[in-house]
Amino acid sequence: MIRAAIIGAAGRMGRELCRAVLESEDLELAGGVVRSDSEHLGEDLGELCGWGRVGVAATEAPPEDAEVLIEFTTPEATVEHLAYAKPAVIGTTGLSEEQTEQVREAAGRVPIVLAPNTSVGVNLLREVVRLLSERLGGSYDIELVEAHHRNKRDAPSGTALLLARAAAEGRGVKLEEVATFGREGVAPRKKGEIGVHAVRGGAVVGEHRLLFLGDDEEVEVTHRALSRRVFATGALKAARFAATAEPGLYSMREVLG
Ligand code: NAD
Repeated sequence: MIRAAIIGAAGRMGRELCRAVLESEDLELAGGVVRSDSEHLGEDLGELCGWGRVGVAATEAPPEDAEVLIEFTTPEATVEHLAYAKPAVIGTTGLSEEQTEQVREAAGRVPIVLAPNTSVGVNLLREVVRLLSERLGGSYDIELVEAHHRNKRDAPSGTALLLARAAAEGRGVKLEEVATFGREGVAPRKKGEIGVHAVRGGAVVGEHRLLFLGDDEEVEVTHRALSRRVFATGALKAARFAATAEPGLYSMREVLG
């Protein structure tokens, strides 16, 4: 059994992850970390996630014997937690360049899977998008529209950036050089631009639509997450990988082979 601790255990993803670990046959819930000022500090993790009492309480730091950490919190908390120096899966999105660099630096000492989207579908879609972008060529305009629930902090989503980056890679360009995030006022489309747009509201778990708009045909690919369970399942795959990997920075590409 791999002893896993969930960092951000009281969050939407944290609770889903606790349930997924409790359901799994090869991972054991070693612990769950909540904020030091959290009302859930000391609460039974099984009760917190709606599973039923398991006798493991939410704490301020992961237990010493945790073999892998699964972190879904905020960028600030994520970089602070690099000090735990254990194999980890980081699902938190919205990390700045500087914060990503801190993760890369920590991965020199421990294995870290940095995965802004842990679903198998999105990671396959990334390959499809790269291929479509490469094969359809520059005469098709690329636009990405994503939608998420009203409480999401970062925009565009980490997944939108991952998919837009794949589209840019397909064209052999850097996303930073061609991306347009939203449009307002007089904003005619520039040649080669990749437009990225974020919709926020309601309870949408996560939707990403990639549009390849040509003069005579349009290709559209959509990924829709129906529940957070899909992310938890993928995060557990990444945790199994991280638990035995050599130090280094990995993505879901390595996890899923
Ligand atoms: P959420 O706000 O429901 O949960 C985040 C939790 O982290 C909160 O309970 C918060 O109290 C806790 N937290 C903050 N600082 C902490 C600290 N220092 N110590 C312990 N806990 C701390 O958000 P969510 O919807 O669960 O999403 C969390 C993150 O995961 C976001 O960045 C989101 O974009 C990302 N996410 C990634 C994927 C993926 O596939 N990788 C999927 C869904 C969400």
